Amino acid sequence: MKPTGPIPPDFQWRDGALMIGGRSADEWIAVAGDTPLFVYDLAVVRDRIARFRAAFAGVSLHYAVKANPHPPLVAAIAPLVDGIDVASAGEAQLALDAGMDARRVSFAGPGKRDRELAMAIEAGITLNLESEGEAERALAIGRGIGRTPRLALRINPDFELKGSGMKMGGGAKPFGVDAERAAPLVRRIVAAGADYRGLHIFAGSQALDAEALIEAQRSALALAARVSGEAGVAPPHVNLGGGFGIPHFANDAGLDESRVGGALSSALSHRDPILAEAEFTIELGRWLVGEAGVYLTRIVDRKASHGETFLIVDGGLHHQLAASGNFGTVVRRNYPISLTKYSDSAKVEEVTVVGCLCTPIDRLGDHVGLPEAKVGDVVALYLAGAYGASASPQAFLGHPPPLEITIDGTRIL
Ligand SMILES: *Cc1c(COP(=O)(O)O)cnc(C)c1O
Repeated sequence: MKPTGPIPPDFQWRDGALMIGGRSADEWIAVAGDTPLFVYDLAVVRDRIARFRAAFAGVSLHYAVKANPHPPLVAAIAPLVDGIDVASAGEAQLALDAGMDARRVSFAGPGKRDRELAMAIEAGITLNLESEGEAERALAIGRGIGRTPRLALRINPDFELKGSGMKMGGGAKPFGVDAERAAPLVRRIVAAGADYRGLHIFAGSQALDAEALIEAQRSALALAARVSGEAGVAPPHVNLGGGFGIPHFANDAGLDESRVGGALSSALSHRDPILAEAEFTIELGRWLVGEAGVYLTRIVDRKASHGETFLIVDGGLHHQLAASGNFGTVVRRNYPISLTKYSDSAKVEEVTVVGCLCTPIDRLGDHVGLPEAKVGDVVALYLAGAYGASASPQAFLGHPPPLEITIDGTRIL
């Protein structure tokens, strides 16, 4: 048997049935009407936001909507956070539709088209500029439509977030302007009469090591101070990035966010005077919503091959690519997985859970231990709240899209 990641502690069992919020997984399937089904539990997100607030007093929290753009979830999160970070005009519209004030929406990401820049400038959204060329296009579009663009500068940091699953800074990168070229561009933005909003420094994702995050945040603060000093311009706002990870695999331990918060608070109290008036933000996706989601998929077939047992489910990597190990991971390892019902008498067997796609990479649980399961039983895959439905190749092989619900207690939002 191969190990599986830890099931988030937010889920309980009642009479052998997996509970998600105030109802069992099977009840949610009955209410939603079918499988495969993603269920996002708002109570878990609220808990993470409360933990952030407790650890990071005085620091703003932004939701990085690319982690999960399910509209009812975004609408429920919007009033609980201080801003939403988007990376396309579509996500920007989603943030506005969720009721977020345009001045609290920031738009990063390479390759913004002119019409996306125009939409953002028109709406009063802050653009986190990714290059000198993008800055000039934004300034020209602002002049053309008679609006003062709100412009921040994303810096490609000259440091890395160590131990992060996905590096987004350090060395040659398509993201942000290289640190040594940042100050002249800040001066250019200010001289051109734009509304300069400050700096954005994002060094990586999926870090579980508090020390690595503490070091990255200190480096980001120092870099913001250095660039601002060189430019001679105090930034109204500094986005220090995010990168908080969640435990996916066996032996992963959760992040100690209170340690990170304590260290940031002390770093901020000693910050360079040029940052005295700045608002500081941390932007999080996965850490806020990843553990809140469960992907429920029904067993369609059970078969034996060369002495191994395969459970074949109605879902697959076309909905939950990350669990198959094909979304930015080097070695395939098992996400946490269970059945939605346990009977005490069932004996545990070793099975491989595969999706319904006709490709060998569609593997959701590889040689995992599950209670003996039959056709019609339902498999729960955890950590499905971030980079699931919207980050998977849904058109691949022509199966229908998954159902998605956001719940709060016993209600569907
Ligand atoms: C993807 C992304 C995030 C969110 O990353 P998580 O790992 O989900 O927290 C935040 N900021 C930027 C700039 C991103 O590209």
